[in-house]
Amino acid sequence: MPDACVFCRIVRGEIPAAVIHEDAEFLAFRDIHPRAPVHAVVVTKQHYPTLLDMTDAAYIGRYMLAAAETARALGLAPGGFRLVANCGPDGGQEVPHVHVHVMGGRYLGWPPG
Ligand code: AMP
Repeated sequence: MPDACVFCRIVRGEIPAAVIHEDAEFLAFRDIHPRAPVHAVVVTKQHYPTLLDMTDAAYIGRYMLAAAETARALGLAPGGFRLVANCGPDGGQEVPHVHVHVMGGRYLGWPPG
């Protein structure tokens, strides 16, 4: 678990976060710079740089369930929401620790920029 990784530091409780959902493997908290009226990120507690580093299909399945549970906890289930996983430079990934954005609270245009 890299010492300086911002999401590892949130998982360890070294940086405060507005937690939405937590289980043994995943942590969801409000994005500090929301790009939608409701915007959270769901991170793996174990450090993986990108989705390309994840290989366990069952674990990835539980990750999607945690993302769905986060959307429910945020009240987004009735209106719908978007999950976004930015991967690598062209994908716009800024934090090199796997995370899924949960976004909603308004109609989200398609395709994204
Ligand atoms: P990405 O561009 O996909 O890597 O997204 C990283 C996201 O993490 C951005 O939306 C940031 O606003 C968010 N973020 C960075 N630092 C924090 C933090 N300390 N607490 C909450 N969200 C953060």
